[in-house]
Amino acid sequence: MISLEKLVRPNIWSLAPYSSARDEYSGKEAHVFLDANENPYNTPYNRYPDPLQREVKSALKKVKGVPEENIFLGNGSDEAIDLPYRIFCNPGQDNVVAIAPTYGMYKVCADINNVEYRQVLLNDSFDFKAADVLAACDEHTKIIWLCSPNNPTGNSLSRDEILKTIEGFEGIVIVDEAYIDFSQQMSLRQELPTHPNLIILQTMSKAWGSAAIRLGMAFASKEIINIYNKVKYPYNVNQLTQLQALEMLKDPFEVDKYVKILLAERTRLMQAFQELPICEQIYKTDANFFLARVTDANAIYNYLVDRGVIVRNRHKVQLCQNCLRITIGTRTENNELLSALRQY
Ligand SMILES: *Cc1c(COP(=O)(O)O)cnc(C)c1O
Repeated sequence: MISLEKLVRPNIWSLAPYSSARDEYSGKEAHVFLDANENPYNTPYNRYPDPLQREVKSALKKVKGVPEENIFLGNGSDEAIDLPYRIFCNPGQDNVVAIAPTYGMYKVCADINNVEYRQVLLNDSFDFKAADVLAACDEHTKIIWLCSPNNPTGNSLSRDEILKTIEGFEGIVIVDEAYIDFSQQMSLRQELPTHPNLIILQTMSKAWGSAAIRLGMAFASKEIINIYNKVKYPYNVNQLTQLQALEMLKDPFEVDKYVKILLAERTRLMQAFQELPICEQIYKTDANFFLARVTDANAIYNYLVDRGVIVRNRHKVQLCQNCLRITIGTRTENNELLSALRQY
């Protein structure tokens, strides 16, 4: 890996971060807080939240086995996806490389930040070779984006090729594990200590059933996390979110129950879907959704919309012609989808 100093934008490397009242004071003994121009009434919402979300990170440490200093928390993964562009990529000069098709936010954030976005098409089994991704890089490539299990294809990428990519690249490799709780594959979290150029993204939005609270996580070296913390908005995770996250993290086994039910429903729904006359092909999945090639994705999508059932039409996405992406819902919801499609 190139030194972080060379990878990070010079203005970010030398940035003196905003120092909030809550940053300057930290300790337990004080009981009179007249430092932050807060209103003393309307507790607990009158006080600024902890800018570093220490309690949430301490609970996450137990669930994820990652030390607090290696965790960044953001306003959804969205923030954890945008920040590395602002940290590493000089606009109009640097580029990033990503597999395709994949999650749309990597490109949107590249476009917003005026960073060239290079795409390497997946193969027929929606997997990739490290050599192809590395061949797309040049001396201005700062970040490689991988997503496993991948959205919208649903499959996990080859772990060997992911590791080869991390080990063969001098810059940053970001692996988005938004769907890892549904996967047969192990998270790459334990690779962090030996791979200082790795950033792993996870989220409360999927298996944790908490998309509304907007809590995304990045796991990385202490040095990278410190730079994330320097660049983020001071109070990027609000108090309501921190409190609800703590509530969820008290009972992490609840997530296992959701996952178990959703995986069983996934098997059932996919089997039934495969029998439908409209189904041409169904793709292997490791997530809480599956991709299916159908006879006419646009027509079927519109037909379902008319019946109040919304799936994701991926017809326009590379390699996904006539594909619908279907999220696993409750048994009742899945049955409603099936019965609508049987009447198509
Ligand atoms: C859903 C999803 C996320 C989650 O984004 P949040 O901002 O945390 O809700 C992240 N990455 C991928 C690939 C996703 O599909």
